[in-house]
Amino acid sequence: MSGEHDEVRVPQRVSTPLTAPYWEAAEKGNLLVQVCIDCGRLQLYPGAVCRGCWSEHLRWRSVEGSGTVWTTTVAEVPGHPAWRDAVPYCIAIVELDEGPRLLTNIVGCDPYAVGVRQRVRLVRAGDHEPGPPLRFMPC
Ligand SMILES: [Zn+2]
Repeated sequence: MSGEHDEVRVPQRVSTPLTAPYWEAAEKGNLLVQVCIDCGRLQLYPGAVCRGCWSEHLRWRSVEGSGTVWTTTVAEVPGHPAWRDAVPYCIAIVELDEGPRLLTNIVGCDPYAVGVRQRVRLVRAGDHEPGPPLRFMPC
């Protein structure tokens, strides 16, 4: 039987052969996207095929890590019990300057002050911070 003070484990990422290069780069603070060799389309999140032309000829490339907030919201209720001390936090979709969009967190600012079209840049999370290894902060 569990009590309310039991330790709640932080959810861990799931790395697969497809996503391993992404996570290995993210641990070093680098953001990778896939590029289709056949049509040149960039995609994130990783897939086994290009979502533009269905080619299986994909490779990884790094991106600069700057972008623009596409949409944003503030989580006042944690998405998982292990993140209860992190609320309120900003969840946003960021459009990278290279084109792909990703769901991420905006850190280093008042979460309620993040706005659409705000410029942001990639930052690596601290080793013991909950959540994904890569986030964004205002420029
Ligand atoms: Zn393609």
